[in-house]
Amino acid sequence: MIIRLLLLFLIVWFLFWLLKKQFSGDSSPKTETKTEELEDMVACSYCGTHVPESLGVRAADKFYCCQQHADLDTHEKDK
Ligand SMILES: [Zn+2]
Repeated sequence: MIIRLLLLFLIVWFLFWLLKKQFSGDSSPKTETKTEELEDMVACSYCGTHVPESLGVRAADKFYCCQQHADLDTHEKDK
């Protein structure tokens, strides 16, 4: 008798688990971190620090980690 009760409980639990899986399966938060990982890391022409391309500054066909380094590098070459 106890085995039948356990079996019934398992079936009910399994059905409940299937329903729960169907309702929560649609919204998977997998795409959030992918874009950051795939972004190219580019070295700064002034200090050599690797920075994601979207965060850096482009000046005179070169890449810099920040506007300050872009200014410093172009100023040094002007003189
Ligand atoms: Zn830099």
